[in-house]
Amino acid sequence: MSFFIDLTGRVFGRLTVLSKDGSQNTHAVWKVQCDCGSEFSTIAVNLISKNTTQCKKCFHESQRVLTDLQVKEMAKLRASGMSYQKIADLYNVGRTTAYTNIKKLVLD
Ligand SMILES: [Zn+2]
Repeated sequence: MSFFIDLTGRVFGRLTVLSKDGSQNTHAVWKVQCDCGSEFSTIAVNLISKNTTQCKKCFHESQRVLTDLQVKEMAKLRASGMSYQKIADLYNVGRTTAYTNIKKLVLD
């Protein structure tokens, strides 16, 4: 016997639960959407236990460490008038990551 909790509309970290998406063995599978817009399916247990709080892309991005040289290059681009968003895209990181790193360098 399996129990069912309706998670529709609940938010776990960066993920919002969209709808139920079948089941896997005895686990309920839910379709979720990440803040970044990507959608994927995961089992309820992962959400409730906070094992899964963002999509793979965001996870990799949050793990990504920029080298000092990269940040220096980014700061140069910023100084030349390029937008944070453009720099972020160029280095395949989030806008916040680009902004934080550049600001940190400028303050140092
Ligand atoms: Zn994401």
